[in-house]
Amino acid sequence: MLISTFPVGPLQCNCSIIACPETKEAIIIDPGGDAEKIMDFVKEHGLTVKYLLHTHAHFDHILASGDIKDSTGAKICLHKKDKFLYDNLQGQGMLFGFKAKKPSEIDHYLSDNEEIEVGKLKTTVLHTPGHTPGSLCFALAEKESTLFAGDTLFSGSIGRTDLWGGSFDDIIKSIKTRLLVLDDSTQVISGHGESTNIWQEKKYNPFLNG
Ligand SMILES: [Zn+2]
Ligand SMILES: [Zn+2]
Repeated sequence: MLISTFPVGPLQCNCSIIACPETKEAIIIDPGGDAEKIMDFVKEHGLTVKYLLHTHAHFDHILASGDIKDSTGAKICLHKKDKFLYDNLQGQGMLFGFKAKKPSEIDHYLSDNEEIEVGKLKTTVLHTPGHTPGSLCFALAEKESTLFAGDTLFSGSIGRTDLWGGSFDDIIKSIKTRLLVLDDSTQVISGHGESTNIWQEKKYNPFLNG
């Protein structure tokens, strides 16, 4: 399987591209900016992008979604509870001091435990509210498993909960009941910064101990 993660956009959001090596069908998680850079990767590897999955709808995770959809025809997918954020992309932009285009239409609302398949690749949707009401993580199970955690869980930290619809109690509950129950060896790719694993966060994350 092809998995590539690289930072994009104004807040260096980690964008991940995963693809089935046989069919070359692909999923992009959090196309948060730099549409050209993402499309260069897609073209270079000859990928057919089927879905654009969003861990949540903060602007730094959705900025390039419309452009990538226009170029590939991929479906824009997110949780319905983040629709209010997605629809307010331009308002978010104003608050953070930049201009954003009107967001493209949402094609599919993701729900908890839904499985998204492309080729031989399967990813499970986990609804993990807290950072935003519609925050999601995506769990990929292969030989070793990988979790795309968005801004819910970071190496040694957790997502902020002081923005629209955030809840500290919810994020702690989401992490403890949905993420820490995953296999210790699960690699965690966060929305920003370096990757980690479940074992390390269970043991050392100060927000999750005591
Ligand atoms: Zn966020
Ligand atoms: Zn973010």
